[in-house]
Amino acid sequence: MLRKVSLKDYEGVCGRSLIEEIKSLGEVLKDYKVWHVNSTIIGGGVAEILSSLVPLMEEVGLQVEWKVLSGTPEFFNTTKQFHNGMHGQPVNITGEMLESYLATAQKNRRLLEGYADLVVIHDQQPLGLTAFRSGHKGRWLWYCHVDPRYAVPAVWYFLAPMIATCDAAVFHLPEYARDLPILQYFMPPAIDPLSDKNREVTPEEYRGVLERLDVDPEGPPVILQVSRFDRLKDPFGVIEAFRLVRRNVSCRLILAGGGANDDPEGATVLEEVRMMAAGDPDITILALRPDANLEINVLQRRADVIVQKSLREGFGLTATEALWKGKPLVATATGGLAHQVLDGETGLTADTTEEMAAQIERLLTNPDLGKRLGAAGREHVRQRYILPVYLYNWLRLINLLEG
Ligand code: UDP
Repeated sequence: MLRKVSLKDYEGVCGRSLIEEIKSLGEVLKDYKVWHVNSTIIGGGVAEILSSLVPLMEEVGLQVEWKVLSGTPEFFNTTKQFHNGMHGQPVNITGEMLESYLATAQKNRRLLEGYADLVVIHDQQPLGLTAFRSGHKGRWLWYCHVDPRYAVPAVWYFLAPMIATCDAAVFHLPEYARDLPILQYFMPPAIDPLSDKNREVTPEEYRGVLERLDVDPEGPPVILQVSRFDRLKDPFGVIEAFRLVRRNVSCRLILAGGGANDDPEGATVLEEVRMMAAGDPDITILALRPDANLEINVLQRRADVIVQKSLREGFGLTATEALWKGKPLVATATGGLAHQVLDGETGLTADTTEEMAAQIERLLTNPDLGKRLGAAGREHVRQRYILPVYLYNWLRLINLLEG
C-alpha cells in the first residue's frame, strides 16, 4: 500500500544536504523505469519498505511500478519452505512443490508486459519470473532480504540458476556475499521515520491505542517483542527469558505481531505461543492486523525494554524501529541485528535465553544505562537506516549499474 510522502518532509530528520544530493541524482535518472516485484502488498519488511520507497523514487523523477505476484496457498507454502531453507532450517520440498512454484511464475507472466530499465526481484517468491526474461532488454536485479549464509543446498541450488540469470544481486550486508557468477552489491534496508509506525504520536493517540489494546499505560515495566509469529523470531525463547527476569523483577511481557499474506505458518506458531503463555497473567499476546502501524508505534513507545530474540535475521527492521524510538534494546547478535545493536553502545546483545534474561534485568534495574543506549541507538539509525539514506543508496546503486 503506497504512502503519501514528500521528500522535503524528511529534511528535519536527515538534513538539507542529503535531500539536495538525492534530487541531483534523481535528475540524472529522470524517467528511468523501475519495477519492484514482490509477493505481498502488506505485512513483512519488504512491503513495509516499498510502500514508502516507491512514492519517493517517483517524486525524484523515476517511473516506478510495484508489481505483486499472486499465488495459491500451495505456492506460499513452498516459498515459506524456501524462506526457512534460506535461513538454514530443514525443509520438506517435493518435486510437485517445485513444479507449482514454476507454474505460478508462468501464471504471473503478464506482470512482465511492457518495458522497464530495471526489474527488481525481491526475495525468493518472484524469482521464477526470470524464466521469462528473454526479450526483456532492461537489467534485472535480485534483492535478497534474508541472511543467505546458512541456506540449505536443496533450496539454494534450486534458486541459484535463476539468480544467476540476473545482472546483479543485492544483499543487506557484505558478509552475505555468495558464490555467484554475477555482480553483488550490499545495501541494508531502512525504516520510514515519518510513517505511522515511526512518527511521534500525540498523547491522545498514545492513550487511545493503549486503551483499545487493553494495555496498562502505568504499572510494572513492559518488555516487548514485535514480530511475525515465526519460529525464527523465537517467541518461545522470549517467554522463557521473561519468566527468568520476573523471578527477580516485577514486569510484564507483550508479544505483538500479525501475519503476512506470504507467511502461511503464522497461525500455527501463534497458537503454540498462546498455549505456552496460557494462564500467565503477566503475558499479553496481541495478534495485530497487518495495518496496525500506529499500534506497533505506541507499543514500542510504551515498552521499557524491547527485545529481538531472532535465531536468524536478514536485517531486523523491528530492531531499527525500536532504536529509532530511543528504546533500550536487547537482541541476539545475528545477521543484521549485529550491525544495529553494538553491545554496550547502541543496545545490549545476548546469545542465549539466560543471557537475554540477564541483559533485560540489567536494563530494568538501571534506567540510566537504557537512556544512554537508546539515545545512541537512535543516532546510529538516523545516520544509516532511515528512508532518505536508503533512497540515496538506491539511486547510487542504479547509477553504478548503468555505469
Ligand atoms: N510488522 C508489522 N506487523 C506485525 C509484525 C511485523 O507491521 O504484526 C512489521 C514490523 O514493524 C517491521 C516489519 O513488519 O517493519 C518486519 O520486518 P523485519 O525485518 O523485522 O522482519 P521480517 O518480517 O521481514 O522477517
